[in-house]
Amino acid sequence: ISMSILVLGGAGYIGSHTVDRLVENKTEVIVVDSLVTGHRAAVSKDAKFYQGDIADQDFMRKVFAENPTIDAVIHFAAFSLVAESMKKPLKYFDNNTTGMVKLLEVMNEVGVKKIVFSSTAATYGIPETMPIKETDLQKPINPYGESKLAMEKIMHWTDLANGIKFVALRYFNVAGAKPDGSIGEDHNPETHLLPIVLQVAAGQREKLQIFGDDYNTPDGTNVRDYVHPFDLADAHILAVNYLREGNDSAAFNLGSSTGFSNMEILKAAREVTGKKIPAQIAPRRGGDPDTLIAASDKARKILGWKPQFDDIHKIIETAWKWHETHPNGYDDKK
Ligand code: UDP
Repeated sequence: ISMSILVLGGAGYIGSHTVDRLVENKTEVIVVDSLVTGHRAAVSKDAKFYQGDIADQDFMRKVFAENPTIDAVIHFAAFSLVAESMKKPLKYFDNNTTGMVKLLEVMNEVGVKKIVFSSTAATYGIPETMPIKETDLQKPINPYGESKLAMEKIMHWTDLANGIKFVALRYFNVAGAKPDGSIGEDHNPETHLLPIVLQVAAGQREKLQIFGDDYNTPDGTNVRDYVHPFDLADAHILAVNYLREGNDSAAFNLGSSTGFSNMEILKAAREVTGKKIPAQIAPRRGGDPDTLIAASDKARKILGWKPQFDDIHKIIETAWKWHETHPNGYDDKK
C-alpha cells in the first residue's frame, strides 16, 4: 500500500527544505500552509498544496478525506519569533498551542497516529550544563519556548490516552539554504543573525548590531550551535521512518554539537563573502542564554542521523548563494 506524508507549514523555511527532500526521495507529499509567514514559491511543484489554517478543523478534515493515504504528519506550522512572543504571548499560545490541540483532535478522528514535530532548544531555557541533553530540565524563558513545550506535553498525554505516537525534534540554530540556491530563508521582518549579516554584506543594511559582548563566553558574545535545513529535513524523514517501524514516542536534539560565537559567525561570513561587513556592539537583546550547544548523539544513534553540513563556512556559502540570487527573498509579501 502506498503511504503519503502531510507536511503542515511546508511553505516555511525548514518545512520547504523537508518537502523538497521528501519529493527527491519520491515520497508523496501533501502540504498545508496558511501562507501567513510561508511562501508559495518555496513549495516543490511535485507536492500537492492546500492553503489554510491547521486550526480550521473542517478544512483539515477535508484534507485528510481527500488524501486517504496519509499515515504521518510532519508539523512545522507555528510562529517562531522570541521577541514577538514576549510582546504577544497569547498570539503564540493561540496559534501554536491551541493549533496543536485542534490538530490532534482531527488526527484522532481520522485515525492518523504518527506526528513529527518541530520543537526547539528554546524549551530548555537557561541550561545548567553544556552540551544540552534531551533529559535536561525544560524551563523556557520566553512564551515561544513555553508554547512549544506545552505542545510537547500535549502530545505526550495524547499518546498515553489515544496512542498518537510523536517525535519531537528540538532544533538549535538553523542556517543555510539549498546548495543550488533555489530555496532559502526569508522572514519578514528578518531577525536572525546570519541573514542579517548577509544583508549587511550585500549592502542592504548599514551595519550589524551584535547584541552584547559581556556574556560568559570566550569572546563575550553568545555561542550557538548551527545546523543546516538539509540535515534537519533528513532528520524529519528518519523520524517518520522511526515511527512507521512502530517505535515509541521520543524527543531528539538536532544540532552539530559545535558552538560558534556571534563574532566567529561574523568573521566566517567576512571570509565567505569577501565583504567588509561593518559591525558594532549593541546592548543585549534580552532573553538570550550565554551558550546553547546540543548533545545530538541520541539522534545519531537512534535515528541514524548523519548531518552533512558540519562546516560553518559551507553553511554560510549556501546562505550567501541564496542571498545573492534572491536579495529580497521570495519577494512575495507586500
Ligand atoms: N544577534 C545579533 N544581532 C542580530 C541578530 C542576532 O547579535 O542582528 C545574536 C542574538 O543576540 C543571538 C544570536 O545572534 O546571540 C543568534 O540569534 P538568532 O535570532 O539568529 O537566533 P536565536 O538564538 O534567537 O534562535
